[in-house]
Amino acid sequence: MKIAIHGLGYVGLITGLCFAENEDNTIIGCEVDSQKVEMLKQGKPYIYEKGIQDLLNDALKRGNFIPTTDFSKTSEATIDLIAVGTPSNPDGSANLKYVEEVAINIGKNIENYKVIATKSTIPAGTHLTIERLIKKEIEKRNKNIEFDVASIPEFLKEGTAVQDFSKPDRIVIGTNSFKAKMLLEKLFKPYVLNGHPIIHMNPLESEMVKYASNGMLALKIAFTEELAQLADQLSSHLGVEVDVLNVLKGMCTDSRIGNQFFKPGPGYGGSCFPKDTQALADTAKTIGLDTQIIANINPTNENHKDFLIDKIFSHYGNITGKTFGIWGLAFKAETDDVRDSASLKLVKRLTEAGAKVQCFDPKATEEFQKHFPESESIKYFKDKYSTLKNTDALIVMTEWKTFRTPDLELLIENMDEKTIFDFRNLYAQGLDKQMKDSGFEYYGVGRK
Ligand code: NAD
Repeated sequence: MKIAIHGLGYVGLITGLCFAENEDNTIIGCEVDSQKVEMLKQGKPYIYEKGIQDLLNDALKRGNFIPTTDFSKTSEATIDLIAVGTPSNPDGSANLKYVEEVAINIGKNIENYKVIATKSTIPAGTHLTIERLIKKEIEKRNKNIEFDVASIPEFLKEGTAVQDFSKPDRIVIGTNSFKAKMLLEKLFKPYVLNGHPIIHMNPLESEMVKYASNGMLALKIAFTEELAQLADQLSSHLGVEVDVLNVLKGMCTDSRIGNQFFKPGPGYGGSCFPKDTQALADTAKTIGLDTQIIANINPTNENHKDFLIDKIFSHYGNITGKTFGIWGLAFKAETDDVRDSASLKLVKRLTEAGAKVQCFDPKATEEFQKHFPESESIKYFKDKYSTLKNTDALIVMTEWKTFRTPDLELLIENMDEKTIFDFRNLYAQGLDKQMKDSGFEYYGVGRK
């Protein structure tokens, strides 16, 4: 099948390369950024994702993955997938500028029947806008070409994106057209041979699914964050040790609740949860619905980021002149994505208050430097232990494997003061006790 993919970011590139694994597919990867296209042609993926280099090498060798800035090439495709970004507008609504640009491009280049399916996360009803824009462009050319618009929300997770694509929990296809449904089923069926379902619905419902999923996951985290704060404050008020991880263990063994996504951390970030939860709240607001839960998920998460940073401030009273070693800049492990990462807020607040930070991340330093270039107060290191040279404390922000079992002797050798803020509860399985026995002051999340 000939498939055009519009936008070769995280989603578009992974999707394109995974579809190209099937030699019967030809993928036309349309990207506005010519630098990205050149890099791909040279076999250089510009994002960090497990398995992506091999996929790109193989696809280029086979010749069935064609990165291009020439949108006219999409006219040959039977299915066009839209995978451009839908960032937040300043008011929290989804910015559909890129999606609309793609719709216009498709309308200008379409020659024969095709299905246009959105992988981008878009508010309920956007398929109608896409349909209208394509139709308008076709009419401008005095042509009458049939097409269908569908929605196939993307559920891949950065860090395990290739695996998620190849073995999804489910595929949701939203379309009112039988012809589109058949074509899309043919394309996606090989990925659910494990018995996982393809779920059919109308496009408006399917556009809602992605927001509902991300809103629910964000809610689980935000709920856990508040439990952690409650445990922390109860400890202080009652003078009794309270460990939120024990509370969660007790809660999560209830099979109705389950045990995934109940991990207190530094506050969620990434390119999806904050913006999608915000857009969900905005959709409700636009139609005059006053949501109490949805509207407060992101503010709860932001409040939690501040709650933890305040812990650092209250430990010292005054942090001016202090130096902090930060392990982890990415919003989660196994990605170089720093969008809305809790480390952004941490670095901003610490340096604005007159502290210095020394940062290390196995993959995300370059991306982070785009937000905070190296300066007198912000330094970047290539090794986790040298990052800690002459620091007053270590702050753990990302759960990279390399941070999980640090050598305490090396921490002691490098750090000036023995304080650890473990904002991932990475050392909760006993290393925290060893740290305390070695003279460290240790702070976890919701654990005293
Ligand atoms: P991204 O910002 O990494 O990539 C978007 C790409 O589209 C960029 O390379 C950009 O240059 C390109 N682009 C912009 N306008 C274009 C145009 N008119 N034609 C062709 N290319 C154009 O975004 P992403 O993280 O891949 O996310 C894409 C969409 O998928 C978003 O709606 C996002 O919410 C959703 N999504 C993302 C993830 C994720 O983990 N990143 C997961 C599921 C869904």
